[in-house]
Amino acid sequence: MDVGLTSAEKRLVEYSQAAVVKYNKIRHANGGIDTLYAFILSDKEKIYDGASYEPNIVHASVCGERCAIANMVLQESYKAKIKSIVVADPVPDVQEYGTPPCGTCRHLIWSHGMPETTVILMQYIQGKEGWTFPKLQKYTIKDFYPLPYEPEKGLWDNWRPQ
Ligand SMILES: [Zn+2]
Repeated sequence: MDVGLTSAEKRLVEYSQAAVVKYNKIRHANGGIDTLYAFILSDKEKIYDGASYEPNIVHASVCGERCAIANMVLQESYKAKIKSIVVADPVPDVQEYGTPPCGTCRHLIWSHGMPETTVILMQYIQGKEGWTFPKLQKYTIKDFYPLPYEPEKGLWDNWRPQ
């Protein structure tokens, strides 16, 4: 499957596929089901894992992308930058598009990212023999968030009505 991955992105994708299998096996062994995962490659070439957190209070939910970002910040501080993020979501069969990040996560990936930060959508399917990864799509965060929310500090500092 050639979607023009760099060697660093290939490493992240291979890591992500192994981690999806590992985590899903743990979840299934404990009565759980597949979920959305996110895996971040930081500019320090380190990988951070995240998964959706869906507790019994809906408004306390945390997206997989944000879970991975929080893990990156925990290990590397707020100065850390996202080089690439994989969003791996289970699908019943191959879809035209993989699941993209929600609006809030698009903003956070952008604010913790770089102009060239890539977002790789990875569909995965549970079969009798395990999990397969039939489709990858690669974008940049700018594709998903072309006009970022960026309040300008000091904009009104010397303002007087004219
Ligand atoms: Zn989100």
